[in-house]
Amino acid sequence: MKKLIALLLVGLVLVGCSDKKKPESTTTPIPTPISTVEPTPIPLDHDTYDSLYVIINKNHPLPEDFEPSDLVVPNVLATKDGLQIRQEAATALEDMFNAAKEEGITLRLGSGYRSYSTQNRLFNNYVAKDGEEAANRYSARPGQSEHQTGWAVDISDGSMNNWLKNSFKNTPEGIWLAENSYKYGFVLRYTEEKEEVTGYIYEPWHFRYIGLEEAQKITESGLTLEEFYNYMN
Ligand SMILES: [Zn+2]
Repeated sequence: MKKLIALLLVGLVLVGCSDKKKPESTTTPIPTPISTVEPTPIPLDHDTYDSLYVIINKNHPLPEDFEPSDLVVPNVLATKDGLQIRQEAATALEDMFNAAKEEGITLRLGSGYRSYSTQNRLFNNYVAKDGEEAANRYSARPGQSEHQTGWAVDISDGSMNNWLKNSFKNTPEGIWLAENSYKYGFVLRYTEEKEEVTGYIYEPWHFRYIGLEEAQKITESGLTLEEFYNYMN
């Protein structure tokens, strides 16, 4: 509610400012309807596989042959060599890891781009180990993994104790990321208590790059990507 009031005030101030700048105008300014003062998702090109705003989930998979064109190996500490993500995300990731380092937090890239065939192999391994129902909650079927977009990363604190485990959220690295990742354009993609929306369990290590402006708005909203963009079906 406080947020809404703040937004209304900002809206009123902005309307006031623009009036003052156009004293010669003879047309009466149209008052801003209250409904448009609330955060409204920009129409984004979700359905273009190559888009920064593409939303991939169990209902919206990528085709088998999709591979991003600008994959690079970011210049950051990683748990294994050769992990790739898209260029823009790589630059942001480098900035984020450097900022964390300055605050005494050492992050490591644990996973980046994954091809359809890699995801296929992974998922089959998980099914063999834990059964299909369990695997479906924590792993993606091929085509349904955000890692295939090249915009997603898994981040490790360097210890196997917390790697891909819920306990990562209580590590200094997990806490730092939860508080700061949006400042570098990343959002926590699979949040706690949103499994029914995202289709995946809480993953405090998995972050999705979506650009600075959008990441800030999404994080402030507390919504998942699907909810924020009203992309539920
Ligand atoms: Zn992940």
